[in-house]
Amino acid sequence: MFELNKHFRFESAHVLKYHTGKCGRPHGHSYELTVSLRSDTLCPEGSSTNMVMDFNDIATIVKPMIETYFDHHWINETLQCESPTAEFIAQWIFRYLKPRLPLLTRVTVNETTTSSVTYWE
Ligand SMILES: [Zn+2]
Repeated sequence: MFELNKHFRFESAHVLKYHTGKCGRPHGHSYELTVSLRSDTLCPEGSSTNMVMDFNDIATIVKPMIETYFDHHWINETLQCESPTAEFIAQWIFRYLKPRLPLLTRVTVNETTTSSVTYWE
């Protein structure tokens, strides 16, 4: 079995409406996103020979999502959520990407250098 991990970064702002601590105030994060794909087979021919999937092809699918919904966006608005926690974001990204990346198995969102959430189905 092979597992591919591709990492991305984006800056986003949000507020957690119901949080009674400091996350209840508008603020931003430098998020790190890891998308993980699994396969037990490799491409037999063509440009991706002996790859599960070309890392560049993964980026071609993920980057437009980041541009449209996450990077320098107010994600309460773009995700239409009153409380877009790291858990919510990881699940949202998984469900957005799965139809576009059928080999996707896990999405990990790092909200800070010490806090991350992994979502899979
Ligand atoms: Zn936050």
